[in-house]
Amino acid sequence: MTDAVLTINAGSSSIKFALYSLQDMSPLLSGKIVNIGQSPSLKASDIHGTDLCQPAIEIGDQASTHETLISWLLNWLKEHDSGILLKSVGHRVVHGGQSFTEATRVTPSVLLQLKALIPLAPLHQGHNLSAIEAISKWAPRLPQVACFDTSFHHTQSELAKLFAIPRKYTENGIIRYGFHGLSYEYIANQLPKYLNKHADARVIVAHIGNGASMCALKNGRSVASSMGFTALDGLMMGQRCGSLDAGVILHLLQHYKMSAAAIEHMLYKESGLLGVSGISNNMQVLQQSDDPHAAEAINLYCYRAARELSSLVSTLNGLDAIVFTAGIGENSALVREKICEHLAWLGVVLDNKANQSNNDVISNLKSSVQVLIIPTNEELVIAKATKALLE
Ligand code: ADP
Repeated sequence: MTDAVLTINAGSSSIKFALYSLQDMSPLLSGKIVNIGQSPSLKASDIHGTDLCQPAIEIGDQASTHETLISWLLNWLKEHDSGILLKSVGHRVVHGGQSFTEATRVTPSVLLQLKALIPLAPLHQGHNLSAIEAISKWAPRLPQVACFDTSFHHTQSELAKLFAIPRKYTENGIIRYGFHGLSYEYIANQLPKYLNKHADARVIVAHIGNGASMCALKNGRSVASSMGFTALDGLMMGQRCGSLDAGVILHLLQHYKMSAAAIEHMLYKESGLLGVSGISNNMQVLQQSDDPHAAEAINLYCYRAARELSSLVSTLNGLDAIVFTAGIGENSALVREKICEHLAWLGVVLDNKANQSNNDVISNLKSSVQVLIIPTNEELVIAKATKALLE
């Protein structure tokens, strides 16, 4: 029997999972349930990338809840590999607020505190927690650990966390938290393998997938990030607007008479690449389109990313390296090229061939800043933190 830890990343339309051996943290299998809310199905592959469900297994219908899908998944895992003994589960939880600065074992009281944070991450936190509750019902004694996207940013200074609003709101927790911390933690741990300069390295990591943010790292620790109080701030994303003049929201409330729920939907679901292109939130689709609005959306995406990155440079007093990661960062040579074009003033020079080939080092030898591609692995960070905590 192989003792294993399961990682779960439960989102609104998908549940990603991975199994790791507790002995040596080697991956055993990974997969995801996709299309939740429509016609959910399972895709999974083993460590060699061999497809374990071909075609994808259909599992339920429009009405299937996260709870029923998680129980289905746990039964499938049990039946699929009887040689695996599940010892613990680690979850990605988007918001840990001010109290949870590290991975934490889930107890009824922890769960209550995490539920109180749902309003701070309305589109993510509830799904993360419903996965925890589903597993508690399925196996009440199985230890579960919550790993937070916010924890990694606790090293930021008080100044970096402040909004310029009256103090009473700050005291009530309206501060910048920062997200994608599990991904930044993974990259920070990988950096020494790649960097020319190690000590005090000043690095900006661009985690650009469907959700997107940037983090300024000094010597592997978070100094500042583009996401703030919620995962809406900062970069333009697939469907989210990123930074927006707060006056626009007042205008929508007062003059368009939009409700808070309608504004929330517009900013989280109808904006970003989708809103500007009017075509799709998917970068690959936009890159293949010849519609001028698709091109404008990509150009704005890259312009905004470069502006945000440039402002983060000032928090580091300079820059030694840029890292691209996540779906777009790891795969889109076009986006990396366009962002780096705006950064020529920093001495950034790409090696075009290396960029087109998605090499790990994509800067030219003459570049004053190293530019890297490092594929992220949030699941491994969760698995290791879960193992460490329970040991
Ligand atoms: P999530 O935030 O949902 O985890 P991902 O990190 O998987 O998202 O990133 C999804 C994004 O990556 C999509 O916009 C997709 O189009 C983009 N992407 C993936 N592969 C490519 C590619 N080869 N070229 C351009 N974009 C890509």
